[in-house]
Amino acid sequence: MEVLLLSENVPPLEGNLKVLLRHSHFTFLVDGISRACSHQLVRHRPASYSQQSQRYVAMKNFPYVIPESVRKKKVEIEGKTYSYNDVMMFIGKFYEALVEEEVPKEDARFVLPNACTTRIVFTMNGEELIHFLRLRTCTRAQWEIRKVAIKMLKILREKHPSLFKSVGPNCYYLGYCTEGKKSCGRQKEMKAYFSSLCKEMI
Ligand SMILES: Cc1cc2nc3c(=O)[nH]c(=O)nc-3n(C[C@H](O)[C@H](O)[C@H](O)COP(=O)(O)OP(=O)(O)OC[C@H]3O[C@@H](n4cnc5c(N)ncnc54)[C@H](O)[C@@H]3O)c2cc1C
Repeated sequence: MEVLLLSENVPPLEGNLKVLLRHSHFTFLVDGISRACSHQLVRHRPASYSQQSQRYVAMKNFPYVIPESVRKKKVEIEGKTYSYNDVMMFIGKFYEALVEEEVPKEDARFVLPNACTTRIVFTMNGEELIHFLRLRTCTRAQWEIRKVAIKMLKILREKHPSLFKSVGPNCYYLGYCTEGKKSCGRQKEMKAYFSSLCKEMI
């Protein structure tokens, strides 16, 4: 996964931080994330997105994300044992055979999995970016989008320490957890992690 800050515009407005954030814009490129992850990203509405097309781009030997939890798993189906990679390879061959049979790519892509990687460019203003980061750096967020959010936050902290030093999950940003019964209960650990953000993701 690659996360790049392509461009930013932070106007020289003094005073009200909310106003400054509203008029700031940040454009990120995220490459090599799964479609499962990009689907979660685009649920954030006050933003603009441009995503690699599966209608026009041929997915030959399609790249895919492997979650750690399935990496070493083997599953038996009707007496035969399959790995995750076996299934991906089969899907890839089936997709390519459909395209060779002149099935339009926009239809052949129906067999492609959520794991298939994608590239997406998006622009958010500062207010929305902070909303996104508060939700998606939390341990309640799914691991892949959380990884994206933490990488984004690391870049933003380096470029604009004063704007982003207090940003992280709600337990860090607000000082208390908003997740109720679903809280991870690790507020202390999270606060320590998001104060420095130098270690590997926890
Ligand atoms: C841990 C987690 C689990 C999730 N699980 C699920 C799930 O199981 N199923 C599911 O469907 N989704 C799920 N989601 C996605 C979630 O439902 C939202 O779609 C996502 O968080 C983006 O919406 P948002 O309101 O947070 O903020 P954004 O869309 O980023 O918008 C930011 C804010 O702008 C304002 N806003 C934006 N658009 C409008 C509008 N049209 N009208 C009024 N105000 C607006 C609101 O104040 C909003 O909070 C999950 C999200 C998280 C973080």
